[in-house]
Amino acid sequence: MRVDILTLFPSLLLPYFGESILKRALDSKAVEIHVHDIRDYSLDKHKKVDDTPYGGGAGMLMTCQPIFDAIEQLKTFNKGPVIYLTPQGKVFKQAKAASLAKSTNLIFLCGRYEGIDYRVREALVDEEISIGDYVLTGGELAALVVVDAIVRLLPGVLGDEKSIHHDSFSSAFDGKKEHPHYTKPADFRGMKVPDVLLSGNHAAIEKWRKDHLQ
Ligand code: SAM
Repeated sequence: MRVDILTLFPSLLLPYFGESILKRALDSKAVEIHVHDIRDYSLDKHKKVDDTPYGGGAGMLMTCQPIFDAIEQLKTFNKGPVIYLTPQGKVFKQAKAASLAKSTNLIFLCGRYEGIDYRVREALVDEEISIGDYVLTGGELAALVVVDAIVRLLPGVLGDEKSIHHDSFSSAFDGKKEHPHYTKPADFRGMKVPDVLLSGNHAAIEKWRKDHLQ
């Protein structure tokens, strides 16, 4: 999978890809992630990327030119859908992560300020995703959330593939959320692990887990 992310703040994204499972996924070439600074595409002599909204109103909007040029260039080697992160998009769910994980190419566009000129959305954006009904300062956190949820589903990324099939929302759980988990010690400050989980009785453990899906 190749993922391209367009942002005005690449340095917000890059550290996340340098640790843990995302880093392993990049090292093993399960995914390639390229982060692009939209400002690099600005033709303005001061590298301006925003302007005031027509009709007045608060704040600034990201202008068309740098985003059009960036996406048009990216599209010559990334044929995937352009996904704009926005509170107006469809709320992101695990099923969407699973369907995007089947793609070979994806382009994410992160907004800032009051958002982007609507002509970008009309002409270039294929899909709009929100990570929830609240307003963030920018699309970078949303892009990280979506990319993280997708990448962990790619073959070979998680050490134990079985865990994907036993995660919250999986079909093994009938779309429900996971049961409680415990690890050693069996008694911590008087808080005891349920006896059934120590019993070695696999059928009883399975039943307990099923009964405790949330
Ligand atoms: N004026 C916009 C509105 O009312 O919908 C909010 C703009 S927000 C301050 C700036 C950028 O953050 C947006 O363009 C979008 O890219 C991103 N963003 C904010 N909340 C988001 C969310 N819940 N999901 C995805 N992206 C979000």
